[in-house]
Amino acid sequence: MNGDLMAKYKVTIDKVTCIGCGLCASICPDVFELGEDVKARIVEAHRTFNDDVKAEGVVKEALSNCVKDAESSCPTTSITVKEE
Ligand code: SF4
Repeated sequence: MNGDLMAKYKVTIDKVTCIGCGLCASICPDVFELGEDVKARIVEAHRTFNDDVKAEGVVKEALSNCVKDAESSCPTTSITVKEE
């Protein structure tokens, strides 16, 4: 925790194992989208990093259930959510 009352969650996508199925973007479109390379990435509003192999972002508590649903639904377990 960093002083905020509300927790923040770091979301990481392994773009090497992502198969571009789009499930995360359909479950949680406020956070996930498919890029031009047909790999998942974090939408611009929450994005902190994006390259060919990894995507990262940070979301607030209000989106934690959404990102955790995507994490548990990803067929290749490419999504990791960690409380910061
Ligand atoms: S659900 Fe998983 S495999 Fe499918 S697009 Fe999202 S990160 Fe990639």
